[in-house]
Amino acid sequence: MGPSSPISAPNGRLRRETGLYRDGGPYGKGMRLTAFTDVSLRLVMRLAVAEDEDLLTTRAVARTLAVPYTHMAKAVARLADMGLVETRRGRGGGLRLTGAGRRASVGAIVRELEGGGDLAGCEDDPPCPLRESCRLRRALRDAREAFFASLDAVSVEALTAAPTRGILVSLGVVGHSAE
Ligand code: SF4
Repeated sequence: MGPSSPISAPNGRLRRETGLYRDGGPYGKGMRLTAFTDVSLRLVMRLAVAEDEDLLTTRAVARTLAVPYTHMAKAVARLADMGLVETRRGRGGGLRLTGAGRRASVGAIVRELEGGGDLAGCEDDPPCPLRESCRLRRALRDAREAFFASLDAVSVEALTAAPTRGILVSLGVVGHSAE
């Protein structure tokens, strides 16, 4: 995705600011999505099955998706920045998935939210002495791209088919503003 894409603006800094950058501490739990990406995808799925009359607020969606409000608010802001979600204030307001959000592939969303950082601590402090010419570093980057590419074929619509759809719909909530 280029800089002009509705889902551009990579922001690893945001992930660090949220405290959600990587799970499992310095030795991790294997390769897994950041909590921020997972929260964002939960939100996209919930909004994808919303009816026009649903008033989905950030607070209500956070509660029903078992996510702290502050984390959900950051996900809403990021997805809005990417052009995937819109927020409407006031009576009849709430969160909506945009047309771009409905058309986006899961791979595009995940690639954008996860960013292009290393899967290992190549640039940690202290940095790895092999980092300038490490074949493992390249292999890991290629593996990550293959992971993203496999998700390119998955649409938001496909994510919200049965049986997931029924669960998402059962989470229906009513709120009074976009907050
Ligand atoms: S060995 Fe290679 S992949 Fe591992 S930290 Fe060092 S540079 Fe990165």
